[in-house]
Amino acid sequence: MGRIYLPYYSFLEADFKKYIDEYTDRGFTMIPVIPNITKDWNDFTIRRNFDKIVKIADKNGISIGNLGWIQSFVSSGVDVFGDYGLNLINSADFLVAKQLGLKEAVISHDTDTSLNEIKNIDFHGVKAELAIDGKIPVMTSAHCLLGDQGLCNKGNRENSKNYTAEDLICQKNTYYLIDKMNKKFRIISNYKKCNSVIISYRMNKNRYMPKELGLNTINYLRSSGK
Ligand SMILES: [Zn+2]
Repeated sequence: MGRIYLPYYSFLEADFKKYIDEYTDRGFTMIPVIPNITKDWNDFTIRRNFDKIVKIADKNGISIGNLGWIQSFVSSGVDVFGDYGLNLINSADFLVAKQLGLKEAVISHDTDTSLNEIKNIDFHGVKAELAIDGKIPVMTSAHCLLGDQGLCNKGNRENSKNYTAEDLICQKNTYYLIDKMNKKFRIISNYKKCNSVIISYRMNKNRYMPKELGLNTINYLRSSGK
């Protein structure tokens, strides 16, 4: 069975416990993720719940996309994996990852990374993960993009505990940015803090790489954002 990566704050929510338990029972390994951008609300929430998050991560490790949070979690003794926000492209990057104490890390989602480049990376003992399927995130915005279009009904509920993801139109519906070539880029909103991730219109081009790469190079394959 595989892993499922979920935002760390889902693990802190009573509402999500049933899903996490269900998928754990089905044999998936559930891994909390510290996002690439953590300023303001995320930094505050991580700091406030640090011990709780460490306890959760103690089981299966934690994936971290933000350089600033690596040291604290490595020091706490949990297994830390580098997420795509670290943009690890080459052997030198993986050497730094190793020195920072990362056990595993995702190879950059940079779409220019070629098969040959990946084959030649020295991972320095860090287990490597490669995104091969799905649509990769192309941009993270601290901004509420849907709110700009009048599609955010969070309003003054922001600081209230009395709403769930189901109350928010940004979570019930699916929204896209459409460019002049008519390509659709999905917008995924963080229901907690309104920031947005924009997902590429195209399927990952690394899709057929694993066979050619050989199994000893890459430890994990990732299917990202549908
Ligand atoms: Zn909003």
